[in-house]
Amino acid sequence: LIAVRDLRKSFDDEEVLGGVSIDIREGDLVSIIGPSGCGKSTFLRCLNGLEILDSGSITIDGVTLSRTSPDEKPSRALMEATHELRREVGIVFQGFNLFPHKTVLENVMLAPVVVKGESPEKAETEALRLLGKVGLEGYAHRYPVTLSGGQAQRAAIARALAMSPKVMLYDEPTSALDPELVGEVLQVMRDLDAEGMTQVIVTHEMRFAREASDYVVFMDKGEIVEVADGDEMFTSPRNERTRDFLRHLV
Ligand code: ATP
Ligand code: MG
Repeated sequence: LIAVRDLRKSFDDEEVLGGVSIDIREGDLVSIIGPSGCGKSTFLRCLNGLEILDSGSITIDGVTLSRTSPDEKPSRALMEATHELRREVGIVFQGFNLFPHKTVLENVMLAPVVVKGESPEKAETEALRLLGKVGLEGYAHRYPVTLSGGQAQRAAIARALAMSPKVMLYDEPTSALDPELVGEVLQVMRDLDAEGMTQVIVTHEMRFAREASDYVVFMDKGEIVEVADGDEMFTSPRNERTRDFLRHLV
């Protein structure tokens, strides 16, 4: 479903992604781990077009972003593909980014109505269904400040799902949560996995990465260093850099 080829991205003169290639199949749950600053967030942001790649290509469900060099002016086709990709790829960040002056229901309904032009009635029905799915039935009319962090993050997931994405990306979705709230958010991702959603998760939750992922990707210094299934990654990593990173985890 996702094919990334030799993806490169620099900021100023600093190369942040130095040629990343990976294939992700439909229905896979992939965890990305790696040290701070290695380019995990930048990779996710490229995957849904929040950052424009310098060179290489990203294809998701038939939509391709490609560029041969950062000197090439982003073409109209690239910009159009970027817009299309953003609709098909949901993203959830560490901070919940709900609109504070809107209710949970309004937050979830907004994009389908504004971006897809759905009728408010249809969007509301769908939003209520999604809120039920993430365990927030009964919270539709609450404002974000009245929610716990775990509830807010589940609302953010429902909001992303409302656009019927083909892929869900998460950038440290549980890092801002109190420990007792982490599990409820991870459970939503496990449920979505069981339904066949394709998900890519940057996470520090090593147990989740190990148990829930189809495979784990270790990134370091803007490269994919190792890809392995969870048990293999955590018990017998092949690469010295992976071993070094895992050794220093508490
Ligand atoms: P963390 O685990 O701390 O979130 P990360 O692996 O997500 O780290 P990135 O956020 O992708 O790392 O950042 C990789 C590098 O790119 C860092 O050196 C960062 O300073 C730099 N960087 C990221 N975004 C920008 C930007 N918009 N402008 C300039 N530099 C950036
Ligand atoms: Mg990051």
